[in-house]
Amino acid sequence: MLKKNDDIPLFIEDYTSEGNGIGRYEGFAVFVSEAAVGDTVLCHIIKVKSSYAIGKLLQVLSPSKDRRSTDCRLFPKCGGCAFRHITYEAELKYKGKLVSDAFLRIGGIDLAAEPIIGAQNIYGYRNKAQLPVKMEDNVLKIGFYAPKSHRVIDGGECALHPRDFFRAVKLFKDFICSFGISVYDETTHKGLIRHLYLRKAFAANELMVCVVINGDCLPHAEKLTESLRSVPSFKTLVLNINKASTNVVLGTQCKTLFGPGWITDELCHLSFKLSPLTFYQVNPEQAQLLYQKAGELAECKKTDTLLDLYCGTGTIGLTLAKNVKQLIGVEIIESAVSDAIENSRNNRINNARFIRGDAKDAAAALKNEGIAPNIVILDPPRKGCDKELLKTVSDMNPEKIIYVSCDPATLARDCKILKETGYTVKTITPIDLFPRTVHVETVVLMTRTDAGKG
Ligand code: SAH
Repeated sequence: MLKKNDDIPLFIEDYTSEGNGIGRYEGFAVFVSEAAVGDTVLCHIIKVKSSYAIGKLLQVLSPSKDRRSTDCRLFPKCGGCAFRHITYEAELKYKGKLVSDAFLRIGGIDLAAEPIIGAQNIYGYRNKAQLPVKMEDNVLKIGFYAPKSHRVIDGGECALHPRDFFRAVKLFKDFICSFGISVYDETTHKGLIRHLYLRKAFAANELMVCVVINGDCLPHAEKLTESLRSVPSFKTLVLNINKASTNVVLGTQCKTLFGPGWITDELCHLSFKLSPLTFYQVNPEQAQLLYQKAGELAECKKTDTLLDLYCGTGTIGLTLAKNVKQLIGVEIIESAVSDAIENSRNNRINNARFIRGDAKDAAAALKNEGIAPNIVILDPPRKGCDKELLKTVSDMNPEKIIYVSCDPATLARDCKILKETGYTVKTITPIDLFPRTVHVETVVLMTRTDAGKG
């Protein structure tokens, strides 16, 4: 019987959904982080639960052929990447299998996923970082919360960030120290600086620096602007006001201190305005492949009505708008909707309409209006769609539903519900939007089960 503090050899045969290695010891599952499938490791048991144990990797006794040396000094402390210790090919293989397994296990759908669409570029691809700022033992830290803690790992040089983020972090640190600006303390709810939020538009090489504060103004802001101007891509400096004592990073109010208050990116030959609060895919190169895939699956016709639910700044729908009769987008965040409207104007798209609202309510209202979309795109946050929304979508009777998701588990759950209402999963395509991390994006095509019959 396995006990705490045992040191055991373990062959790693699979990964958990968090990317930890799984081995079996006398039939009992043991989870070990930083272990690779194919490794035999020596691990120290730190916890024994009723159905599994957790081990800490002490030594790799025999390395897997997938193993490689890690290439980021923050790994694994920062908790951002899960797979810097294995080859990218092995990571892709795992992600493809994860998606197929979720459909079988959670969705009861026995259909293998298409080959995963991997990334050419696995470094510096992220266009966004929200970095907590903290003073720990009189040391200023800007970086990432260590897994399951609020300890900050100083992380100016994350391998997933573009180089101008490194520079912005360094300049911001210098600014805080030079002017003795106070840093927010979660326990006392005192102090000013909470997060440094960076966003980059790769196509136009534009950097947005947004300082999240527990207050109304940033002292010496003009000095920060002055120093950030040494970064060639620096375009705009914005304050975000967040006085709430919660873990939510951004408040709802923004103030522009320098530049326009937004940046503009280009995707699928269209331009997109990005305000601080607007959702935008973090890996635009891969997002482009995702949108192309969604377009291929949609096979739009000039007579089609396309409903883009959870549309953010309108990206997916707008890239398809020229191929359809009308596009309707629905999104809950006000500034994302106004960006989407402006994006359609800037791209000379005049068959699009955007509605601010909860997807569930807006879809029901559209249905009552008699709108009958031929194609519905669903791209909800991780928690997936409301059951009621799925029912409304199915009642609208579209020929195709294209479901884009960053969580295979909720995706499989929702596809099961849609299946029960008369839709069939035709294809499942995983796309790696988040190389080296445990996350994977998937796009699914569903059509009416009885389509073409009778
Ligand atoms: N399709 C977009 C955005 C996807 S992210 C893109 O590819 O860029 C999910 C979006 O859903 C976010 O913009 C979020 O603000 C929005 N959202 C979250 N909950 C919502 C709800 N209940 N109703 C409508 N939109 C919602």
